[in-house]
Amino acid sequence: MARIGILGFLHETNTFAPGPTTLDRFIEADAWPGLVEGPALLDATHAMNLAVSGFMAALRGTGHTLVPLLWCSANPSGPVADAAFETVVARIEDLLCQAGPLDALFLDLHGSMVTESLDDAEGELLRRLRAITGPAMPYVAALDFHAIITQAMVDQTQAMVAYHSYPHVDMADTGARAARMMQRLLAGEVFHAAWKKLDFLVSMPWQSTLGQEPAGRIMARARTLEAPDRPEVQFIPGFPNSDTPESGPAILAYARTPDLAQAGVQALAADVTGLQQAFSGTLHTPDEALQIVRTQAARRTILADTQDNPGGGGSGDTTGMLQALLDHRLQNAAVALLCDAPFSLAAHQAGVGTTIRHPLGGRNTPGGPPVEGDFEVLALGDGKFTGTGPFYQGCRMDLGPMARVRICGVDVLISSRKQQAADQAMFHHLGANPQDYSILVLKSSVHFRADFGALADRILVVKAPGANTADLHELRYTRLRPGVTIL
Ligand SMILES: [Zn+2]
Repeated sequence: MARIGILGFLHETNTFAPGPTTLDRFIEADAWPGLVEGPALLDATHAMNLAVSGFMAALRGTGHTLVPLLWCSANPSGPVADAAFETVVARIEDLLCQAGPLDALFLDLHGSMVTESLDDAEGELLRRLRAITGPAMPYVAALDFHAIITQAMVDQTQAMVAYHSYPHVDMADTGARAARMMQRLLAGEVFHAAWKKLDFLVSMPWQSTLGQEPAGRIMARARTLEAPDRPEVQFIPGFPNSDTPESGPAILAYARTPDLAQAGVQALAADVTGLQQAFSGTLHTPDEALQIVRTQAARRTILADTQDNPGGGGSGDTTGMLQALLDHRLQNAAVALLCDAPFSLAAHQAGVGTTIRHPLGGRNTPGGPPVEGDFEVLALGDGKFTGTGPFYQGCRMDLGPMARVRICGVDVLISSRKQQAADQAMFHHLGANPQDYSILVLKSSVHFRADFGALADRILVVKAPGANTADLHELRYTRLRPGVTIL
């Protein structure tokens, strides 16, 4: 039986968002645990929709010994500070050296981390760990759907498996896939990798795998190419708001022979090429979207405030959609989640039932200005609750003091730490039910669809100011490799 080291170090870096992302962001908890080391890692990630959780659950009872080293993540944001990367990696190296003899390593990675100095932070992390363990130890990594695959990552691992779904409802399942690959490697099987980088970028809202969008069809096709001797044929769309030479989707396969792996890559690449023009959608300005709401009847409309999606690097405190709702005098609406710690503190100090006058949001650019006015404090919360939807399932959130306030018939759900509005538990924590509103503004690009999608008979993706630019043509890429096109 094997001793398997367990580690995680995750960040989705939006190179266009303000940085650097400091160590504090990795240490603190948000929807996911804060930095955790050693045996505490087991409890901290237990029964969550995380790859590390699924990996460990799948190996329970197999006789293998899990050796938890370190796990941390930070919400998507600008490039990671060199000091933060070096501190975490040095700690991982120490723990790896102290762990005693290991037979294998599982890595829970995002795959698109960029630091102030490194375009391919995961590739560098793997290189440094290899310097300690040598090249033969089986490394299996779980990756995000938005991972940016590099040659260094492929070369330094025996297998990498990425989420199939966006919304990422299958993170724990991906950990279980990684565990199956790990068990086969430990049993002596050898898998050959083949991969191909694709030369286009797809904006996040059009990457959803729900329904009939091309990503869903491509994922279904990929599953038909998999078999016991070719267990993984993957389309990995990548994170588009990343200006690096490696940006773009990839196809990555593992099989018992190089030819079999290569054939899987070629077959899926042909499918993706045939469907790539179908990656598209309509971005509405706030006024256009609210004009539709006013003139075309619907029971409930979701407005996806995609450009302020904290899950893509948005600050979570922009006010464009809130102000537009007020300008259009629309009521029975809710905006979630707006991140404003000072406002939330003021609401807590004033108490439920009071009315406060305090600027709300708009502390970051792009996104302001703050909304001024009288806010009725309807509910307060400590920000500690458990996710109940398929994406945040089991996640023990810690979002700091929270409040629900009302201005001119519009409720605003406020957190002290930014988090993507992708779980109905965020409403329930503040005594609200999303079904009681006819308009829901959610700061999310796609993940909201997993838990909120069924509530709406109309979903509009809206382009209000924010750092998570949805129209990629507006971004000034300077470092993409030649030939990359923006769809
Ligand atoms: Zn992702």
